[in-house]
Amino acid sequence: MPPRHLADLDAAGRKAAVEALGHKGFRAGQLSKHYFERLVDAPEEMTDLPGAARAELVDALLPRLLTPVKHLVADEGRTVKSVWRLHDGALVESVLMRYPERVTMCISSQAGCGMNCPFCATGQGGLTRNLSTAEIVEQVVAGARMLRRGEVPGGDADAERERPLRVSNVVFMGMGEALANYSRAIAAIRRLTDPAPDGLGMSARGLTMSTVGLVPAIDRLAGEGIPVTLALSLHAPDDELRDELVPINTRWRVDEALDAAYRYFEATGRRVSIEYALIRDINDQSWRADLLGEKLARRGRGWVHVNPIPLNPTPGSKWTASRTGVQQQFVERLRAHGIPTTVRDTRGREIDGACGQLAATTA
Ligand code: SAH
Repeated sequence: MPPRHLADLDAAGRKAAVEALGHKGFRAGQLSKHYFERLVDAPEEMTDLPGAARAELVDALLPRLLTPVKHLVADEGRTVKSVWRLHDGALVESVLMRYPERVTMCISSQAGCGMNCPFCATGQGGLTRNLSTAEIVEQVVAGARMLRRGEVPGGDADAERERPLRVSNVVFMGMGEALANYSRAIAAIRRLTDPAPDGLGMSARGLTMSTVGLVPAIDRLAGEGIPVTLALSLHAPDDELRDELVPINTRWRVDEALDAAYRYFEATGRRVSIEYALIRDINDQSWRADLLGEKLARRGRGWVHVNPIPLNPTPGSKWTASRTGVQQQFVERLRAHGIPTTVRDTRGREIDGACGQLAATTA
C-alpha cells in the first residue's frame, strides 16, 4: 500500500493524525480545506499554517501518490485520458470527459483486475493490487485541478455562470472491480460526497458504481445509505454465455445478479444500469435481446435501463463490435419489452480511453 494520505482518513482520523504529529487538532480542518476545497497540496500555498508545521504536515499527510506519465486528448480536448504511475510503479488510468452541462470522470479502483473477463483489456493482465482510498480520490482531485486551471475546453459559459465548474459525475468504470476493494471504494465515495471541507461535496447521484455482479457486495452497498447508481456489467442474459464473458458468473448466476440489482433499486430508489457490450455474433442475437428484456421486465417496471455499448475490441481479440443494424435491432427489441435503452457514448476511443482499454497499451 502507498503512504498514508489525508484522503484515506475521515474527519476524526485526520484530527487524530494531526495530533499524533504534535499539532493542534484544528490544523486538520485547515489541511482539509486546502486539499478538498482549494485543491491545493503545495506547502507554500498554505499561508494560514505556521511555516514549520506546513512542511511537516504536508510531508506526513499529503504525499504525492500519482505521478503523471502522460495525458492524451481527444474530442477537441474535451476528453483527457491520464496515465498515472503509483509509488510502487503500478500504472492506472483515469479519463475526464467534458460535456456542456457536466463533467464525468471514469476512474480506477485497482491496478489491474482479477475478474478476468476475456473481452476486457484490463482483465487480461490480472490484478496487481488494490488502490488505496486516497489513490482513488486523487484521480478525481487531479481532474478537478485540470478543470480549475482551464485546461479542458468544451463547457457552456452560461451554465458555468450559474454553477461553478467542477467534476459532477464519477463512474467506477476504469481499471478494477471496485466492489472487490470494498472498504476503500466506499471510503472514497464518502470523501467524494462529504460536504467541503471534509470532502469534495459531490452529489451521490452523480456517482456510478460498476460491477461484474458480486452479489454480497451489492447487498452491502445497498445498506450503506449512499444513493449511488449501480451499474451491472451483464453482457449476456443466459448463464452459458455469461460464464464465458464474465467468469465470476460461475459463482453468482445471471438471475442472482439481477435479483441483487433489483434489491439495490428497492433499497435506494436509484434506477440500475445494465451494461451490455455488443459483440458481433456472440451476444447480439435477437433472442438474447428478448431473453434480457423478459428477465428485466419480469422483475418490475421503471427499475432499470440498459446501456448497450459496441465492443471496443482489444488488440488481438477474436471478437469485434456488432454491426450498426444489429445493434439498433437489439435496442428496439429491448424497448419493445418496455425497457428504456440507450447506446452508451464511446468517447475517447482513439486514445484507448474507452472502457476496458485503460493502461494496457502503456504497460
Ligand atoms: N469491474 C467493473 C468496472 C470496470 S469496466 C465492471 O466490470 O463493471 C467498466 C465497463 O466496461 C464494464 O461494463 C466492462 O464490462 C466494460 N468493458 C470492458 N472492456 C470492454 C470493451 N473492450 N468494450 C466495451 N466495454 C468494455
